[in-house]
Amino acid sequence: MALSLPIYLDYHATTPVDARVLAAMEPYFTEKFGNAASTSHRFGWVAEEAVSAAREKIAQLIGASPSEIVLTSGATEANNLAILGVAEANALTPPERAWLAGGGEIWPQWEGHDRAELLARGDHFITVATEHKAVLDCFEHLRRRGLAVTVLPVREDGLVDLAALEAAIRPETVLISVMAANNEIGVLQPLAEIGAIAKRRGVLLHSDAVQAAGKIPLDVQGLGLDLMSLSAHKLYGPKGVGALWVRRRSPRVALAPRALGGGHERGLRSGTLDVPGIVGFGAAAELARAELDAEAARTRALRDRLHAGVLAAVPEVILNGHPTERLPGNLQLSFLHVSGEALMNALRDLAVSSGSACTSALREPSHVIRALGVGDERAHSSIRFGVGRFTTEEEIDHAIAEVADKVKKLRDISPLWERAQSAAPKWKA
Ligand SMILES: *Cc1c(COP(=O)(O)O)cnc(C)c1O
Repeated sequence: MALSLPIYLDYHATTPVDARVLAAMEPYFTEKFGNAASTSHRFGWVAEEAVSAAREKIAQLIGASPSEIVLTSGATEANNLAILGVAEANALTPPERAWLAGGGEIWPQWEGHDRAELLARGDHFITVATEHKAVLDCFEHLRRRGLAVTVLPVREDGLVDLAALEAAIRPETVLISVMAANNEIGVLQPLAEIGAIAKRRGVLLHSDAVQAAGKIPLDVQGLGLDLMSLSAHKLYGPKGVGALWVRRRSPRVALAPRALGGGHERGLRSGTLDVPGIVGFGAAAELARAELDAEAARTRALRDRLHAGVLAAVPEVILNGHPTERLPGNLQLSFLHVSGEALMNALRDLAVSSGSACTSALREPSHVIRALGVGDERAHSSIRFGVGRFTTEEEIDHAIAEVADKVKKLRDISPLWERAQSAAPKWKA
């Protein structure tokens, strides 16, 4: 079969909808078009049953209970609901604290809580420098409202330093948010260890698990999490659908809604449910769970083939992020003395990204690579390869040849490369 170009190697940005997922969704656009909130007739019941079944499959993927799943428009919304919702329900801003401490009345938003309990609320939050912008921007929003936010640095391999995390926790810390797997460098954070620390210190733990879900096993109980964000379109489901898992028992997480009206999703997220999208999310979650081990092995083998092939063909290439604690389909490489953006544009046969897809329009080195502290050269020369369900060996071999060819061409015309070669031909070692 002829290779179809360009080759898609950007599975962290989004994934195609699996044909089996699309087939499951299709009836819910047309003959089964009911509103899942219509309780008075069969059209509504059919839609509600489909949503229930999907909710169950989504919950199963992460070892959760279906009643703990809040369906959203994606992980950006889930992250906003988790972080801003926990803050609103569990923290006090400085003006609120001053008001209550000065004997001000208990406002309606605090109904059912007494002054001492309210004044005991915290005001401090912890996250990590390499989080997705949908997490970082929420914490920046809290900071602007007067709450205290610690953004932890990462080690050079991209992992959180557990001692630094523990040291950052204060008596008034409300929430820690650490992603399961990074969307650029693919590193897997030590969530179980972080969960144990959070439990011991009585702090809530949220994880943006968008990149990890369906790629590595996830179990919210074993990991000691309280909230987890998911997105359908990163696991072969449709765009515009996601979920927030919210622990309901030991402890029950208090959360304030961000979208009001109608009281859908137990009052935590109002709005008519996207039934076909949710059915697709459920089907995608079920497939991901059933095929997780086989798919991880296959994508890991292809990723390793790509890595080995590029290293064999191209000198002065550095892997960004931890060498083994990473997603099976992720490869993030710096091609020294070449601009990552120029290389990305030269790689006509490949759909890859330099830096984060969301911020690459800004032409700034990605905040993730910069957070590794590896210097601007590595940050500016990095390319992210994402291998996924539909990647073939033939595509990987073509990608290796294409990368070797284009890096050589760019270096041949690069004064930086020439200078580096005359200075120290260290790559020949
Ligand atoms: C894609 C992504 C998001 C955003 O998810 P959407 O469903 O597209 O809003 C959040 N976090 C991570 C880690 C992602 O990769």
